[in-house]
Amino acid sequence: MKADWAGCEVSCNNCGQVCPTGAILPIPLSIKKSTRIGLAIVNTKTCLPHAQTGECQLCVDECTAAGYNAIEFIGVGTQADAAGNPIEGTTHYAPSVIADRCVGCGLCQSRCFAVNVKDKKVLQASAIIIEAGAAEKTA
Ligand code: SF4
Ligand code: SF4
Repeated sequence: MKADWAGCEVSCNNCGQVCPTGAILPIPLSIKKSTRIGLAIVNTKTCLPHAQTGECQLCVDECTAAGYNAIEFIGVGTQADAAGNPIEGTTHYAPSVIADRCVGCGLCQSRCFAVNVKDKKVLQASAIIIEAGAAEKTA
């Protein structure tokens, strides 16, 4: 699945109804919503908050709106002093995917691509990409 142009709509299971070979299972919507088809991976080198090159939470908003709540901002980049204690002010906040909530719908990837790549042109590629995952959610 390449989700730059569109993710898998939460309220649709038409592909499973029409697939002539059964390659896409005809599962009901109630099951489809919790069935994993992949896993979102954030590119921490290019993601704007991770790289500290801009503010953005489009993927978080998209995932939340879809009802998955699988992306949260966490503190990253904390530096330590010689004694190993965290240095105040060195932490910044960036998105992290909670794997056992992510179904791989791709809505986050298509949002990042549409806005940051196609519209604003601040990225060369979406900074969150769906990779192949297990057939079912692990939780
Ligand atoms: S939409 Fe893209 S750039 Fe924005 S926070 Fe998510 S992964 Fe990073
Ligand atoms: S692929 Fe995962 S992280 Fe992205 S919107 Fe869907 S459930 Fe959320």
